[in-house]
Amino acid sequence: MSNLSTENAGKTDSAVSTAKRAPHITRINVAVITISILLIAIAVVLTTRLIAVTGQSDDVYARYKACADADTQLMEASDYLTTQVRLFVTTGDRVFMDNYFEELLNTQRRDKAVAVLESEAVGEKAKSDLAVALGESNELALAEEYAMRLVVEAEGITDLPEPIERTPLSQEDKVLSPAQKRELATSLVIGDSYDMIKASISQDVERSSSALVKALDQEQLDIERQTGLLLTALIAVGLLLLVTVVLGGVATYQLVTRPMKIHAENIAQARHLDHLGCFEIRRVVDAYNALYDRVQERTERIKHEAEIDALTELFNRGSFDRIMSSRKGDFALVLADIDHFKDINDRYGHEVGDEVIRVVAGVVESHFRSSDFVCRLGGDEFAIILPNTTVANRGSIEAKLAEIARALDAVEGDLPKATLSFGVAFSNDGTEDIYNDADKALYESKRGGRNRVTFFEG
Ligand code: GH3
Ligand code: MG
Repeated sequence: MSNLSTENAGKTDSAVSTAKRAPHITRINVAVITISILLIAIAVVLTTRLIAVTGQSDDVYARYKACADADTQLMEASDYLTTQVRLFVTTGDRVFMDNYFEELLNTQRRDKAVAVLESEAVGEKAKSDLAVALGESNELALAEEYAMRLVVEAEGITDLPEPIERTPLSQEDKVLSPAQKRELATSLVIGDSYDMIKASISQDVERSSSALVKALDQEQLDIERQTGLLLTALIAVGLLLLVTVVLGGVATYQLVTRPMKIHAENIAQARHLDHLGCFEIRRVVDAYNALYDRVQERTERIKHEAEIDALTELFNRGSFDRIMSSRKGDFALVLADIDHFKDINDRYGHEVGDEVIRVVAGVVESHFRSSDFVCRLGGDEFAIILPNTTVANRGSIEAKLAEIARALDAVEGDLPKATLSFGVAFSNDGTEDIYNDADKALYESKRGGRNRVTFFEG
């Protein structure tokens, strides 16, 4: 076994080198799996980032809404305070003053809205606009409190809210009559200057919040840009994954599936396998081809042994029978038998006898065409089948056999001389059994004195 594999190693050297150059499907598969895992990991990271960015977008929207709500609250609270102070100043009913301070000190819609806007205010301009608005608002509140203090004094209301308590009237206003105090209070909260400050506050708040809206818009745009980039990257990763998987599939088809199909066909037809496919398959191909060659060689040898006579290398008896049974058309059969061969054996020994048989076989074979079949039937007996030959060729056969007799006589060396007796018959002689006819003719040659040719005469 080891002997055979060394022999094959030499034979399949070039095959092994082509196998080495072929791509390894294992390596391709490892690469495809690694790249796929890498791409999937990237896709997971990108998706996580995309979810986070989408969350940011929701956050921006929530902040945008909070600012819009704060704006509304601020304006509503401001209007509410204006209404309450004006009602108090005009009616002197303390309910309205209490409403005012309930809103200012407890409900605190204004402060809460301002807190929201302050926390969201982006950029110096927005912040300063908001600060100005707050300043004006405080100024307005002071005026409102002063107006309420005037009314409180005019109406003689006691148990005052704390801010009113600590709002002193100027010396000159203290001495005013209740009617004058009411009149002054009214002029402080109802009139052009009050409305102008209110309008200014509202403009400043509006400017500040529009700056905020712009900033949030910018943030939203950034988020949209990021979302776009992330989506593009995700699509690219998806496409790369698709390309990797498709390339992996194509490689598997080209390097495994298709070659295996071709190899399976060749194996079914008992043929050599071509060097197709990946490295791994080519190694199997090499092993198969080496085995195939060995089996083929052995089959050839067995076939040869079955057809060829070992001593003379002529066709053996079995081949003769096969050739005869498949014969078609006209042919001639020559039977030849060495004369007194027993004597040679007896006198010189069996080995010399064998050598004589070999020499005679060589001489006979060399005188016939390659299309003729020269056979050894056994012992010292030979047969020659001459296809496409009729009685008309009798002359040339006679000449050829005479030439063989001369050649045998001329054989040089220590071997004893051998002569042959021939019997010849033709398939168109009219009898059924050409072998029998030729044998009869041969018998005639022996009977007639040997070393001669007899043609079957019917
Ligand atoms: P004849 O002229 O009548 O043919 O006489 P012969 O002595 O040749 O008689 P025959 O043809 O009957 O004898 C054939 C002999 O050939 C008999 C046998 O001992 C011998 N023989 C058969 N096969 C072999 C062989 O393979 N080698 C050798 N050396 N002798 C063989
Ligand atoms: Mg003989």
